[in-house]
Amino acid sequence: MAECERCGRKAKLTLVEIEGAQMYLCPDCSRYGKVVQRREEPPPQRKVSAPRPKQPRRPDVLSREKELAQDYPRRIQRGREKLGLSREELGRKINERVSVIAKLEHGEMHPPDSLVKKLEKTLGIELMEDVEEVHISSSASSTGMTLADFIVRKK
Ligand SMILES: [Zn+2]
Repeated sequence: MAECERCGRKAKLTLVEIEGAQMYLCPDCSRYGKVVQRREEPPPQRKVSAPRPKQPRRPDVLSREKELAQDYPRRIQRGREKLGLSREELGRKINERVSVIAKLEHGEMHPPDSLVKKLEKTLGIELMEDVEEVHISSSASSTGMTLADFIVRKK
């Protein structure tokens, strides 16, 4: 047992604040002050959480076996002309605006898969071709190079 800092009595002491000073006092003396809540130190909370298991970075690999052919604009145009369709007529057939057809034929727009399928079916052409696995670094795609630049054609 520790001694009360005020009366010296051996007792169970409480930390009490009296006139700004904190003292360990016996139950009798502690009445004169304000009991200081003994703060249980919370277990130190780690701000830095344990390092997460590293997520396996998805390799920038195109494993798709088929890619849009590099010369898809020509393929579309030829297929259309073969059928004697104007851009307007083709657009009407596949529910696309003429401007979309024009962009496709100018290579200014890569048709989404759904459009590729429509074009292939309507024109009876192939727009996709086999490619080998291609590694594309994510940084390269921001350099303005297009996907087609990375496509390795199967010989
Ligand atoms: Zn006391």
